Amino acid sequence: MNAAVAAPGQPRRWIPTPLIGGAAAVHAGALAALAVSPATWPWAAGGVIASHGALAWAGLWPRSALLGHNWTTLPESAGASIAITIDDGPDPDVTPRMLDLLDAHSARATFFCIGERAREHPRIVEAIVARGHAVENHSQRHRHHFSLTGPGAMRREIDAAQTTLREITGVRPLFFRAPAGLRNPFLEPVLCGLGLHLASWTRRGFDTCTSDAALVAQRLLNGFAARDILLVHDGHAARDANGAPVALAALDTVLREAAHRGLATVTLREAIVG
Ligand SMILES: [Zn+2]
Repeated sequence: MNAAVAAPGQPRRWIPTPLIGGAAAVHAGALAALAVSPATWPWAAGGVIASHGALAWAGLWPRSALLGHNWTTLPESAGASIAITIDDGPDPDVTPRMLDLLDAHSARATFFCIGERAREHPRIVEAIVARGHAVENHSQRHRHHFSLTGPGAMRREIDAAQTTLREITGVRPLFFRAPAGLRNPFLEPVLCGLGLHLASWTRRGFDTCTSDAALVAQRLLNGFAARDILLVHDGHAARDANGAPVALAALDTVLREAAHRGLATVTLREAIVG
């Protein structure tokens, strides 16, 4: 589901999803029941535990909108376009080669950069922007326990990457992608406060753990259509038997197919700004 957006980058009001509202109601109901009749505690505790379980389960599904708005496709206004999103860079070996590949196809992409890596390779991040692509926020450190942290730690981690990326590019990111796509109910209110939108994907190629580029391309093209958001990686890239990053060959195949079908490539920020 895509949020209607009036002013990209501005803080917006957080509206709890039905799942989060339901969990809050269960907590309030449990407290009320205990106040009236303490003997109901097994039911109250069971309800609270079940609601926590539902929230944790929802956070395991990167493409779900159960915890808040989530871009899984481009908005209808994008028309005959797709978005290529590239995560976990910048990488001094893979990113420059990916930029050359995108140039060869006259394609534009959205790079979800890790703040610490951007700080190590600022010239590469500058090149991404100079060559017509967008840089967005993939957290400062890409910690795998990101989804287990509270709202304060989440906000610090995301805000640090906002600062890092804005200082290098001069542009404030508009989108956030969670490390490994994992979330908890605190994320959406934090993103609302920072004026960021959560973006996941329509399809991914699992190119960090598959050494067969043809298989990665096949996964990305399975159901390929206008408004797709596709995910590949320049960081943590798996290599084929010859040591070549599989994401490069897979992306080449995808971009050829996109041209064949008359699909243009746009960045996510082009799609949100219109
Ligand atoms: Zn990542």
